[in-house]
Amino acid sequence: MEYAFIIWIGLIFGSFAGATVWRLRARQLIEDQAAGERVSKKELTKLTPLVQSRLSDDRSRCLHCQHSLEWYDLVPIVSWLSTRGRCRYCSRPIGWFEPLIEIGTAGVLAALYWGLRTHGITTSPNPLIDSSLYALWLGAGVLLVIAFAYDAKWFLLPDRVIFPLIAVSGVIAAMRILEAPTPIFAALDTLGAVLILSGLYLALWYVSKGRWVGFGDVKLGLALGLALGSWTLAFLALFLANLIGTLIVLPNLVRGKVSKKTQIPFGPLLITGFVIALLWGNLLIDAYTEAMNGFTSVLLML
Ligand SMILES: [Zn+2]
Repeated sequence: MEYAFIIWIGLIFGSFAGATVWRLRARQLIEDQAAGERVSKKELTKLTPLVQSRLSDDRSRCLHCQHSLEWYDLVPIVSWLSTRGRCRYCSRPIGWFEPLIEIGTAGVLAALYWGLRTHGITTSPNPLIDSSLYALWLGAGVLLVIAFAYDAKWFLLPDRVIFPLIAVSGVIAAMRILEAPTPIFAALDTLGAVLILSGLYLALWYVSKGRWVGFGDVKLGLALGLALGSWTLAFLALFLANLIGTLIVLPNLVRGKVSKKTQIPFGPLLITGFVIALLWGNLLIDAYTEAMNGFTSVLLML
């Protein structure tokens, strides 16, 4: 019952996240153009009505025909299915982005809720702190989905998403440290997580003068480190991000589809590693330790 509610909330937030991604992109294009950078004219004319129609009304619009959308066009998943993924007014395909981000957000929020409920990522006996933490993680989850989608699409982590994410993670970190039995250890653990997830990218960014990693990754690492608050989990998140990246790149590399210049956005990889480490990190570390112990005792018996 509670999960049905969380998934329903997740679909609505997902629909909001999808709309936010397009609006952020439209703003980015307008700013880039004002700064004299080259932007795609086609993309600009397609997306600018999303933010420029703000003064007259704040409604969502079809990206093809600019027809403003009614409430029944905006019901997550259901609207998309009812028109088989096409615009009700111009019948051009809407694409997979909307339903995917809605389902993705619902999945992430349900997983975070499960994580908080079952093995208390950060739960507090104080009901006020406990419910604030739910709200904060909910906000962090939606921001992570937006950052993930934006970086995957346009290889950029916008400050308008990352700065609020750093703020939310900072509050989560502060609450966890204050609630900890020994706050100084919790603070050091959080500092370790930040150094691993952000410090490493900062060093890479500095050494390569921004060619290997973008500064957006440094800022994202700061947010994720604060939210994780454990240097072992941070290390695991970084390891998983690189592992997943390698698994994605390797088959294409073998087929010669990837050159050394191929850009790979780190954001989505780091966010995926972060979510796995957050939800199953301790389980994975325990399983690994147990396996190593088992291995050692077998060796000793021999
Ligand atoms: Zn349309």
